[in-house]
Amino acid sequence: MLGLYIHVPFCVRKCPYCDFYSEKFSRTESEKFAAAVVRNLKRYPEIFDTVYFGGGTPALISGKISEILREVRFREGAEITVECNPDVVNERVLVELKNAGVNRLSFGVQSLNERELAALGRLHGAESARKAILTAHELGFENISADLMLGVPQQSVKSLYETIDELCGLPITHVSAYLLKIEPNTPFGKNPPEIPDEDKQAELYLAAVEQLEKRGFRQYEISNFAKNGFESRHNLIYWRAEEYVGIGPAAHSYYNGKRFAVPRNLAEFLESDVQREVFTDENPDKYEEKVLLGLRLREGILLDERLEKRLKLVPKEYFRVEDGRVSLTPRGFLVSNQIIATLLR
Ligand code: SF4
Repeated sequence: MLGLYIHVPFCVRKCPYCDFYSEKFSRTESEKFAAAVVRNLKRYPEIFDTVYFGGGTPALISGKISEILREVRFREGAEITVECNPDVVNERVLVELKNAGVNRLSFGVQSLNERELAALGRLHGAESARKAILTAHELGFENISADLMLGVPQQSVKSLYETIDELCGLPITHVSAYLLKIEPNTPFGKNPPEIPDEDKQAELYLAAVEQLEKRGFRQYEISNFAKNGFESRHNLIYWRAEEYVGIGPAAHSYYNGKRFAVPRNLAEFLESDVQREVFTDENPDKYEEKVLLGLRLREGILLDERLEKRLKLVPKEYFRVEDGRVSLTPRGFLVSNQIIATLLR
């Protein structure tokens, strides 16, 4: 499997918790950006199994997605995803994406509770999130994911259940549920809001896992849940340590056995004929990566002698061994960093 990731570095406005690289949207720059992506694509004539437009807010360049996709060679039936913010999506945008060949949408819903959305500084309200998903479905999108944020200021298990309950009633096939993390170089980092403490966060996470599973969304990764057959093929490439090409400022790649990244600098990307790529790991340790990435997955990793010995140091409630594979339980996912450190020590 080979994936293609395109980082679209534009947003209408920066959300106060967000550390992803993006600049304020400008039409002129977005046109130059599409041209630069096309230039860089010519260096990668491979056939891709998945294409993922992330960001930033890729739906802001919906009119340019078909232009970019025309340059991509992808396999018949390839998964082609675009991240969408409910506030920039309307029928025109969705039709453009559909006509371009996009077959999977990932909506940044975060919550369906107005107070929580306001606390996160999001531009959309619950109603526009519902409407965006319903419109996408009416237009024929059958593979729709929604992002859900856990540990939001003022969030309770009750308000989380209400959001999950309503979300699962919408025509979606996949949920990504991430804990809010306060990143240092963000407005929240400089002026932190009051967020649920660690115990409360754990309670919210376990409640989300239980509730989503009950509603038919099987947990297949620490933060990801899907109806049968709707696991994100693109993200599985990352977690199974398979290769992918990243294009655009801040995009990462794992290609020809090396890991590298493009600097977080839009101006430089637009001006260069070929994007600058900086090695982050020229010789990745395969074993370490297998443990680090594979244990994020419900399918886990093949058990070997070394792991078997180290697992004696890990409490039994945190992992399971089935059919010669080891994987973490939801409680184990909560402390996965410590477990992985123990296994690799
Ligand atoms: S959360 Fe999404 S919309 Fe908000 S600033 Fe980050 S990338 Fe942009």
